[in-house]
Amino acid sequence: MKLYSTNNPDLQVTLKEAVLQGQAADGGLFMPQHLPEFSAEEIKNFTSLDFNQIAAAVSLKLFENELDSEVLSKLIDQAYDFIPPSIYLDEQLSILELFHGPTLAFKDFGAKFMGQLMGYFAREDQTELTILVATSGDTGSAVASAFHKVPGINVVILYPSGKVSPLQELQLTTWGDNIHALEVQGTFDDCQKTVKQAFLDAEFKNKFNLTSANSINIARLIPQSFYYFYCQSRMDREDLTFCVPSGNFGNLCAGLIANKMGMPAKHFIAATNLNKVVPDYLQSGDFSPRTSVQTLSNAMDVGNPSNLVRIQHLFDQNFESLQDSVAAYFFDDAATIKAIQEVKNKYDYLLCPHTAVGYLAIQAHQKETRGTSPYVCLATAHPAKFKETVEDAIGEQFPLPAELERISKLEKKAGLVSTNYEEIKKAISEIL
Ligand SMILES: *Cc1c(COP(=O)(O)O)cnc(C)c1O
Repeated sequence: MKLYSTNNPDLQVTLKEAVLQGQAADGGLFMPQHLPEFSAEEIKNFTSLDFNQIAAAVSLKLFENELDSEVLSKLIDQAYDFIPPSIYLDEQLSILELFHGPTLAFKDFGAKFMGQLMGYFAREDQTELTILVATSGDTGSAVASAFHKVPGINVVILYPSGKVSPLQELQLTTWGDNIHALEVQGTFDDCQKTVKQAFLDAEFKNKFNLTSANSINIARLIPQSFYYFYCQSRMDREDLTFCVPSGNFGNLCAGLIANKMGMPAKHFIAATNLNKVVPDYLQSGDFSPRTSVQTLSNAMDVGNPSNLVRIQHLFDQNFESLQDSVAAYFFDDAATIKAIQEVKNKYDYLLCPHTAVGYLAIQAHQKETRGTSPYVCLATAHPAKFKETVEDAIGEQFPLPAELERISKLEKKAGLVSTNYEEIKKAISEIL
């Protein structure tokens, strides 16, 4: 599989180059040049495979000429010891729970696979890579869990002291082994500035083989298609409508990739909060990025969604065809809270604020189309990750899931540094 840059179809790289570079040198995003398609019979056969076997079949179809089947199966088995179950709320509505990974959010599917693939490529080159990441909370822990104990990789996380929640801090600082945390006496912007400075510091960068674990890495996008195939095969229907709570639109993009590779679906729905540039775009054809506004579904507070350009490429820049495949709706915080209450009362089931936005979009679509075929709402995070919001909405408390309970009892381990670049550099050198 060759990949090209969305800024220039002539800039082509191998899978390994794309994974290790993250973003194309010209600022574009990498996209597969060609998406192979499964036959109807191959799709039918997925009903008898488990999640990891489906993941292996999909990635082998894409990476056939670059990685062999055994290597892929092994990486996948190392990446995934969790699956995405479907919960049926009623005969027309099911929830695809994507939050059973280590950080209780769907991003684990992408991060874990990227961790394995980068580790594999590093070992192939007999080098050690150092992933340097600044975090305001969640990305750091997803990266940490993805690379924990991956041979050939070290991770250094910079986080702002006192500006992440106590539980988030433990999720960053209790891994041990190849995962190292530095608590910076400054803001998230200070952490990010340091990371940028380190990447421009050629001597330092080369000495430790610094690299990033970017959210737009193709190795994070592709594995997000696995659970669409899996869900479709478990439900064994060809008329599912998938609703995706969206921010940067990577998750929806992965669903559309699965569909182009032959996974049957009736329709896709993009659900957003008041950061509604994509719903506006699908209505008017006019894409105008804005500054993001803060909402309760904060992982979707994105004013300039980076993956829209990938989606446009998937549809060969054909706007009408994209419009035909994807419906879009947006909702405010008040509606989100009401949806959490409603689902709790009606089904005794808890939604995180992001998934609640998806639930609302399904209702709107049902009403608009009088559709009678089944809907799948992707549940992007565990409700306990947004405990205060969900407890406020339902007016009662609920216990932490076992994984968070376990972490809450561990001891924090982090180096303390000022925002001084030389001091942070010294601390990193001493760690590695
Ligand atoms: C990242 C995230 C989203 C948005 O996903 P995109 O792929 O960026 O559209 C939605 N919900 C949660 C909980 C997230 O963490």
